[in-house]
Amino acid sequence: MFEAVTSRQDFPKLEEDMLSWWDENNIPRKYRERNENSDKRWSFIDGPITANNPMGVHHAWGRSYKDLFLRFRNMQGYKQRFQNGFDGQGLWIEVEVEKELGFKSKLDIEAYGVGDFVELCKQRVDRFADIISEQSKRLAMWMDWDDSYHTKSDENNYTIWHFLKVCLEKGLLYEGTDVMPWCPRCSSGLSEHEIVTEGYREIVHPGLFVKFPILDRANESLLIWTTTPWTLTSNVAASVHPELMYVKVRQGEDKIYLAKSLVSVLQGEHEILEEMTGDALVGLRYSGPFDELEAQQGVEHRVIPWKEVAENEGTGIVHTAPGAGKEDFALGKEMDLAVIAPLDQFGVFIDGFGPLTGKSVFDVNEEIYDSLKSKGVFYNLERYTHRYPVCWRCGAELVFRLVDEWFISMDPIRESLKKITESIRWIPEFGMRRELDWLDNMDDWMISKKRYYGLALPIFKCENCGHFDVMGSEDELHERAVEGWDEFEGHSPHRPWVDTVKITCSECGSKVSRILEVGNPWLDAGIVPFSTLGYRHGSDAWKEWFPANWISESFPGQFRNWFYSLLTMSTVLENTEPFRAVFSYAMMRDDQGDEMHKSKGNAIWFEDAAERMGVDSMRWVYIRQRPEANLNFGVGVAD
Ligand SMILES: [Zn+2]
Ligand SMILES: [Zn+2]
Repeated sequence: MFEAVTSRQDFPKLEEDMLSWWDENNIPRKYRERNENSDKRWSFIDGPITANNPMGVHHAWGRSYKDLFLRFRNMQGYKQRFQNGFDGQGLWIEVEVEKELGFKSKLDIEAYGVGDFVELCKQRVDRFADIISEQSKRLAMWMDWDDSYHTKSDENNYTIWHFLKVCLEKGLLYEGTDVMPWCPRCSSGLSEHEIVTEGYREIVHPGLFVKFPILDRANESLLIWTTTPWTLTSNVAASVHPELMYVKVRQGEDKIYLAKSLVSVLQGEHEILEEMTGDALVGLRYSGPFDELEAQQGVEHRVIPWKEVAENEGTGIVHTAPGAGKEDFALGKEMDLAVIAPLDQFGVFIDGFGPLTGKSVFDVNEEIYDSLKSKGVFYNLERYTHRYPVCWRCGAELVFRLVDEWFISMDPIRESLKKITESIRWIPEFGMRRELDWLDNMDDWMISKKRYYGLALPIFKCENCGHFDVMGSEDELHERAVEGWDEFEGHSPHRPWVDTVKITCSECGSKVSRILEVGNPWLDAGIVPFSTLGYRHGSDAWKEWFPANWISESFPGQFRNWFYSLLTMSTVLENTEPFRAVFSYAMMRDDQGDEMHKSKGNAIWFEDAAERMGVDSMRWVYIRQRPEANLNFGVGVAD
């Protein structure tokens, strides 16, 4: 009755035939328009995929969920938007274009020309947006591919301008000085969001023990420990825990102070002479390790109390350099310490650091050891392996650097943010707890970057009086423009074109330029529930489709990134939730359960998998997975 079927089907070939048939018969369009006249709405806002490389199989996992839920709602008769999004501004794009051009640093970009460079960045995004669209069609994802939104669009950028204007009006926007993690290769600060979980690598650093000789006490020294010898140049204090037990030990001629629980770090024999609590040491003055440097002139080094001193690492006496460490900076503010900031944007010692001036922070360790030895304060050097922050884009080790950046204050909106977070349905449920933890602990949001291709922050700061104005739209910029509008008109609001426009300071009347910084890319993705629906023009579409019923992304990382920026921007603009439910899933691993990395060679490009196993079997593997568990994936998993 039945013809025998062969078990040796060429699934990818069958799929290609099906795709052509869909195409010829306009099936995706018929599907999308099926509920055109329905009065039921189901609103999905797409978390934009970065259009910077072709898709990997992990992207296909997330996109399969999106397609599945949208099809389900379509079958139930809901009218939908079917809009896909592309993320395409920021340093991640710049880094790829720099690689294409063989650039080593920012100086190469300046020499090449910022305008041409930004143009190449935009072209790269368009190129990969096209590739990802085609790949997604191959995955049988049915979106309205001619209606994708781009975060680099004028509308997206100007809607962020509007958001920043509202931040200004609510007193949330400010310029601040802080010590931030800094990538010397990218010459850019990294926000807290960017390094909290993924931005660390196991690195072997020197574990260096140094003596700080106490003034007026012959042969007596504090013993300190550091993994960043370069920061010793900027030492201004030594911190002790006031309640922790310390000891004074004799080693030959030397008398050394350190925490009692850490005497095992001492080299050779020692004899304990005295015990005391940390507060007995507070106020002692010592000679610093680099007092001869010009940058150190006038600094009085002393022992200060600090309750964060750890008793399980180092010596219990913490070398404190407020210009070169984040916690040190906060402590320095509290204790009114001098701030010595040694590095320029490339991680090179600035003037005032003697023989180190002009040298890279990564090349000075030997010279520092020699200098300490010649002063008789070098104690011991070990290898120390620890998790240390690295640039997630280029892999370079970060340093901590004193910078002026722009921030959005969190404290005034923290409680509203948490309330809104609690009103959202999180699937799986533990997501809510994770988001609330982040909101509880996060510092003010650093939104500026000293780079080229990204949102042009619409902040105009007067060099004469210090006042700053924020342009809330292109119309406001046009109205306020006193110079350069004609040159700018017709260009996207990117550097360098937007920077031709000058305005007049509303306080003192001086001519003012835009600050050169560009925006944090999570501003770009966080505004899309507004920008894609014409929010700032008071459109009906926004009222019809906001908030989204459902969004979906992989959990790790998004609590501090996309979810966070969506919540913050919606709280500031409307004090309401931008989405009602979020469906999340874990990470994809290779078939051995190891993390996939391009550099490890175990990442799988979407096209390879589609060609070898077909997308139906991929989608089957994805959909039967328990979403909160990591998915171990290889092209053989569906056999
Ligand atoms: Zn970098
Ligand atoms: Zn002014």
